[in-house]
Parts: sequence; C-alpha cells; structure tokens
Amino acid sequence: MAHDSHGGVVTAVVAETRVVVETAVAAEETPVTGVVTPVAFRLRRPLTSLIVSLGSPMPHLIESAKTGRAKCRACGKPIAAGALRFGERVPNPFADDGGETTHWFHVPCAAFTRPEAFLLTLPSITDPLPDREHLEQAAQAGVAHRRLPRVAGAGRASSGRAVCRHCKETIAKDNWRIALAYYEEGRFAPSGFIHLGCAREYLETTDVLDRVRNFSPDLTDADAEEILRELQP
Ligand SMILES: [Zn+2]
Ligand SMILES: [Zn+2]
Repeated sequence: MAHDSHGGVVTAVVAETRVVVETAVAAEETPVTGVVTPVAFRLRRPLTSLIVSLGSPMPHLIESAKTGRAKCRACGKPIAAGALRFGERVPNPFADDGGETTHWFHVPCAAFTRPEAFLLTLPSITDPLPDREHLEQAAQAGVAHRRLPRVAGAGRASSGRAVCRHCKETIAKDNWRIALAYYEEGRFAPSGFIHLGCAREYLETTDVLDRVRNFSPDLTDADAEEILRELQP
C-alpha cells in the first residue's frame, strides 16, 4: 500500500514534467501570436529546476558561508565567513527518520574531490561563480579519470620508506611525490603516494598541477616548475 502511494507520487511528477515539455514544445512550434513566446520562456524555468531536483532528491548548494566555523571536508581548513562554499547534502547516518546533513567544502575543493555532486549542482547556480569554466573542466576531468579526485597535494618525501601505489617501488627521500586520499562516507583518509612519473598511468593524466597547488598552497612557483618537469618523464 505504501509502495503504491509512493508510485503514485512519482507518476504525478513525471506527468507534470511531460505536460510542461509538451506545452513548451507546442508553444515553440506554433509561434502564431506575440503572446506565445513569453509563455514558453516562463515555462522553461520551472522545467529546468524540476530536472535538477529529480536528479538529486536532496539538492546540493553553493552559498556564502554565514559563519567561519565550518571546515572544508577535503582540505580540512576553515571556510572563511562570507566566502563561497559548496554544500553536499547527504543522508544523516545518525538520524532514524531519513534526515539529512550537509558536508561543506571550499568551492574549488568540491570541484576537485566531489566532481559528480559539483557538476549536478552547477546548472542551478546563476550567480557569478569565480573561475566557473575552469572548475567545471576540472570536475569533468575528475569524472573522466576516476582516480583523479584522490589527488591530495604534493611534497618531497620526508623519508625513503613510502612505497608508490602504482609501481610498488619506494619513493626516495626528498623526491617529489603526489599524496592521495580516499573518500569514504564523508571522510578523506590518507591513502599513500605515487611518484610524479607514475601519474600518467595511475591517474590517466598529467594535468594535475591545479589540484596539487590547491591542496598544497605552500608550493612555490619554482616547486611547480619542477613538478611539471617530473610529471612528463
Ligand atoms: Zn578546502
Ligand atoms: Zn611509482
């Protein structure tokens, strides 16, 4: 019985979508009077928002941080009050009633580490978003190359003990390495390192400098040049 009524709700939503589509198409196909075009224009807006909400029952969001208390899930640093932040709506594991909670990210950190959620949200953002095109491309790359969102920065090996996750050889002390983090249930757990020269095969791309610098902001321009050189063995 409960299942039936749930099915009824879904059908109603689909039917509503279809009606809107038909109305919009009909208006476009018969531009007879001057009244028709504005009507079609008005109808497209609710149609767009409906598609976004159908894709994600709990829509994610981008907004100005109201306080500076939230920390970014990806980089662990605070998100300054007034700065734009990305909120990923997820089921709250501590709620019995199907409640939800929000995981906050700096906007670039979200594009780099949560590309699917970020891309799902982007069409609903109409306010100016700094670097929007670049962030969209970064997120698309993260979807195309499934390990790319694991990039968590770069640095020189502090010891010669770490083993590269790709080639299984040790990474010599003071050599550059890319740090990886694995996302699971809202947490990013450190999950080892790879040689810069192993990026092409492990990550399927060497276009990683923007993410590396996002998560390792202390890198200098000279460091970045060295990293770029070693990424292309
Ligand atoms: Zn961050
Ligand atoms: Zn390696």
